[in-house]
Amino acid sequence: MPDQYDVVVVGSVNADLVVGVDRRPAPGETVLGSDLATHPGGKGANQAVAAARLGGRVGIVGRIGDDGHGALLRDALAGAGVDLAHLAVTPGPSGVALITVGPDGDNSIIVSPGANARLTPGDVAAAGDMIAAASVVTFQLEVPMPAIEAAARAAASAGARVVLNLSPTAPVPDEVLALCDPLVVNEHEAAWLLGDAGAASPDDMARALLRSGPRSAVITLGPGGAVVADADGTAAVPSPKVEAVDTTGAGDAFTAALCLRLARGDSLPDAARYAARVGAAAVRRPGAQTSYPAPDELPR
Ligand code: ADP
Repeated sequence: MPDQYDVVVVGSVNADLVVGVDRRPAPGETVLGSDLATHPGGKGANQAVAAARLGGRVGIVGRIGDDGHGALLRDALAGAGVDLAHLAVTPGPSGVALITVGPDGDNSIIVSPGANARLTPGDVAAAGDMIAAASVVTFQLEVPMPAIEAAARAAASAGARVVLNLSPTAPVPDEVLALCDPLVVNEHEAAWLLGDAGAASPDDMARALLRSGPRSAVITLGPGGAVVADADGTAAVPSPKVEAVDTTGAGDAFTAALCLRLARGDSLPDAARYAARVGAAAVRRPGAQTSYPAPDELPR
C-alpha cells in the first residue's frame, strides 16, 4: 500500500450491460436488440479509473459480487493502477446498470445495486488507514448513506479534503454537506437540490448552493464548462470546444480530475479549469472508462 494517496474513492462499482434498441418494449412485450456489450462502470469505479489514468495515486473502497462481472470490474480497476486493497467481495451479484440505447443515442438506465448496497460503515472502518493517507476522499450516492457518513467523518478527522458528487440525487445529512469542499453537481442535480431556485443563472445557483451548507460548490454545465463558488466568490470555467461523440461518464471524469488537482494543491478554480479539459476529452470517445484521457491527450 502506498504511504499516501492523492484520491480515495468510496463508491460504486457496476457492470454496464448495454443493448441498442429501435424502441423500448411496452409492458408484456418483447423486442429484439443489438448484441450485448458489457463495460466496467459505476460512478465510483469511473472516478477512480479517471484519476488513476491522469497519473494519480488512487485507492477505492467498495464492494463487488462473486459473480462473473466481479472479475471484469476488478481487472478494469487494476489495469488503471487503482489500489484494490479495500475492494471487498460479497457473495451474490455485482452492481449492474441495465442500459438500453435508443436510435437517437438516448439512454434508459436501471441500476441494480447488488454488492454496492452491502457497503457498510464497517468496511469504511476497515479502510481507515487508506482514508487517513488520502489528500482527497470522494463519494457519489450509489452506495448506502451510512457508509458515506462514516467515510466523510473519517476523512475529515484525518484532515483529508472531502468532495461529494451528489449523483444520483438523494437527501444528504447536513453534517456531511457541511464537510463538502466542494459539493459537485450537474445542472439537473443543482436544480433538484435548490427546488424553485432552479430557474436562476448558473452563477446564482452556485451561490445558492454555497448558502445551503457546503464549504464550496461546483456546477458542471456540459459544453458550457462549469461554475465554481467558494468564500472568494464565483468563477466561470469554460470547457474546450470539442466534437462530442458520447457524453457518458463526462461528469465522473470531471470530478476525478478536480479531486486530483485539489490533492496536488491547485485552487478550486484552477482545478476546475483542468477538470473541464478532462471532461471535454472524455466526450470525444465512446463509453465511460474507455473514453478517459491520459495527461498528454487533453485539449487546450
Ligand atoms: P454530467 O455527465 O454529470 O451530466 P456534464 O454534462 O455537465 O456532467 O459534463 C461534465 C463536464 O464535461 C463539463 O463540465 C465539461 O467540462 C465536459 N463536457 C461535457 N459535455 C461536453 C461537450 N459537449 N463539450 C465539451 N465539454 C463537455
